[in-house]
Amino acid sequence: MFDALADRLEDAWKKLRGQDKISESNIKEALQEVRRALLAADVNLQVVRGFIKDVEQKALGADVITGVNPGQQFIKIVYDELVNLMGESNVPLAQADQAPTVILMAGLQGTGKTTATAKLALYLRKENRSALMVATDVYRPAAIDQLKTLGQQIDVPVFDLGSDANPVEIARQGVEKAKELGVDTVLIDTAGRLQIDPQMMAELAQIKQVVNPDDTLLVVDAMTGQEAANLTHTFHEQIGITGAILTKLDGDTRGGAALSVRQISGQPIKFVGVGEKVEALQPFYPDRLASRILNMGDVLTLVEKAQEAIDVGDVEKLQNKILEATFDFDDFIKQMRFMKNMGSLGGLLKMIPGMNKLSSGDIEKGEKELKRTEAMISSMTTEERKNPDLLAKSPGRRRRIAQGSGHSETDVSKLITNFTKMRTMMQQMGMGGMPGGMPGMGA
Ligand code: GDP
Repeated sequence: MFDALADRLEDAWKKLRGQDKISESNIKEALQEVRRALLAADVNLQVVRGFIKDVEQKALGADVITGVNPGQQFIKIVYDELVNLMGESNVPLAQADQAPTVILMAGLQGTGKTTATAKLALYLRKENRSALMVATDVYRPAAIDQLKTLGQQIDVPVFDLGSDANPVEIARQGVEKAKELGVDTVLIDTAGRLQIDPQMMAELAQIKQVVNPDDTLLVVDAMTGQEAANLTHTFHEQIGITGAILTKLDGDTRGGAALSVRQISGQPIKFVGVGEKVEALQPFYPDRLASRILNMGDVLTLVEKAQEAIDVGDVEKLQNKILEATFDFDDFIKQMRFMKNMGSLGGLLKMIPGMNKLSSGDIEKGEKELKRTEAMISSMTTEERKNPDLLAKSPGRRRRIAQGSGHSETDVSKLITNFTKMRTMMQQMGMGGMPGGMPGMGA
């Protein structure tokens, strides 16, 4: 799911790659890309606007994190905002102090309301909370049968008064029945229409008034995209919801609905439906969905690791050395060790968005190169490491290092040329300061 969105965000991050700092000019395009991505995913325009504004503010005000490039940092900010937008942590189902807890299910026809009612009943049973389901959809006789069948399947009782009774009355008696049976939670399934309908809304409002639910859950079909915003708005305004269940997330859906519901209603998505089976219900975790939307490998882990692994004092020392033109092979080794602290190159690359598509061959090549470089540096004398110019001048020294490390003289020459080039470049930039920025110095 959300593949298109993930791809577009990946484009946005690519635009920031190679830049050394987030700035007003270079962030513009990336933000534009995020905006396009969210709109393409059917996120409500208003929601998108607010989101982009927040991301921009945070990104421009963000401190530079050493060892993390602006692209990664930008993605982290987008991620944090996504999580923020969807609500920070999982919000559980309501539980009344005094049983029964009453849960009212609302939503349009076909969204998966009846299925979600049974899914919740099963979920509650697994939590050792007993349930009673109440069938108030008298307009579609098949709906009552559907709930009964599901009830049998999961061994949860269903209360109904047939299709001639008044839905408000069924709901009222349903709650009475729950008290009588001593069940923990009563789930009231209600009638839906294909579109928002004043009569349906009025009836729902009446039921709500009579049963005074602890949770009023709007069931939203994730496939409805942009419509989810209007739907949420109307239901929240007219009925007052306390949460939502997003269904059909297993399908080929866009991310729009998930992002809109919380923003429009201020209420959390509590569960997601991920299949037709009664077991296919999961608590909603905003952070998981955000990661999934971003499809960014584990860039967040990378950011966190970088923050952990860097000893700020060390980095400053390295930067001074670069400025003073005394950066040598010892410093270079330090830099490589720093990278190793952060995990293997393969692991590291996989965490970088876009890089997770690298073939294992590419990664192997990078790691091999790193090892070769290290082997060559290990064969240098202390003096040579401190003074790379010695090597540039002496073919004899280069030959010895080649033999000592099991590499060719050409390899050693290349290492020295590249190292010298890099050092000059870093001096020209004034501040090298990119620990981990130079994976291989070999061929
Ligand atoms: P209601 O009219 O809102 O009560 O909707 P139903 O519960 O009858 O569900 C409508 C259709 O959607 C049925 O075919 C369900 O099997 C299907 N459905 C419900 N939830 C999900 C879900 O999470 N994933 C998928 N793939 N299908 C679902």
